[in-house]
Amino acid sequence: MSTEPIKSIKDLPLDENLFPGTPACAGCGGLLTLRHCLKMLGDKVVIVNAAGCFTLLSIYPFTPFKSSWLYTAMACAPAGAQGVRDALDILIEKGKLNPGDDLKVLVLTGDGAAYDMGLSSTSGAIYRNLDFYYICYDNEAYGNTGFQQSGATPFASRTKTTPIGKDFPKKDLFEIWNSHKPPYLATISPAYPVDLANKFKKAEQYKGPKLFISLTPCPPGWSTDPSHTFKLAKLAVDTGIWALKESVSGEVKHTFVPGKFKPVEEYLKEQGRFSHLFKPERKEETLGKIQEMVNEYWKQYGVLL
Ligand code: SF4
Repeated sequence: MSTEPIKSIKDLPLDENLFPGTPACAGCGGLLTLRHCLKMLGDKVVIVNAAGCFTLLSIYPFTPFKSSWLYTAMACAPAGAQGVRDALDILIEKGKLNPGDDLKVLVLTGDGAAYDMGLSSTSGAIYRNLDFYYICYDNEAYGNTGFQQSGATPFASRTKTTPIGKDFPKKDLFEIWNSHKPPYLATISPAYPVDLANKFKKAEQYKGPKLFISLTPCPPGWSTDPSHTFKLAKLAVDTGIWALKESVSGEVKHTFVPGKFKPVEEYLKEQGRFSHLFKPERKEETLGKIQEMVNEYWKQYGVLL
């Protein structure tokens, strides 16, 4: 693949490595993210899938993937990836696999596994400098089991286990991972596929952990219309609530900064999980606090004064 950055959506690869007809919900933002990621990774991949929504994608003998797929429990996908990587390396060393036929190893998880149950095995894999890709589709709750709160659930979001809204913010997984100084780490969005594609192109040059977190709208959990997924993913970036950034060996850089930030309310009011902030009456204090949290984030980078 050329190292030149992709400039336009028209230049994205046409090949599809994820086929339609999966059991995922209509409008799943995670699936849209995965489609773009697999366009960039190609079909020579072993996907190590932690238990979660995407467990349902591949059910023998049906699969939407061109590549191989291995299913693990929630906590141990990075450990599974280590086993796959080691096996491939041994085959290459023994001359039983041509290095040119080597496969990329990809961990695919939801936020429950990434932020909570699988965090220690991920930390271990980053620490060991395991050569792998890692994609977290972050729908901000345990979507597969009915939308209970996870470590990724944001402040004030209603979930099955926070019926009046969560009263503390989400974990900052980017910063947790960044403290390990991995070779490459990025946040991505299905609404910004050119940014996403260029991050995978850039990551390709690094050996070691290449980590991606994507904020992904989830129509049943967020109580949104499936046709609004792209709009919501874009609003998350354009309001500044989801910052698009990357880190190379610990050094953070934003890859997109909105020219003019939209009020965060525009993003919140579209979603049933935040409807209690608007009716029966507006919760001005909570809305103000969420906007302030977003402003504080950008102020630390000198973007907002
Ligand atoms: S519950 Fe949400 S994340 Fe899971 S498949 Fe459905 S839309 Fe996607």
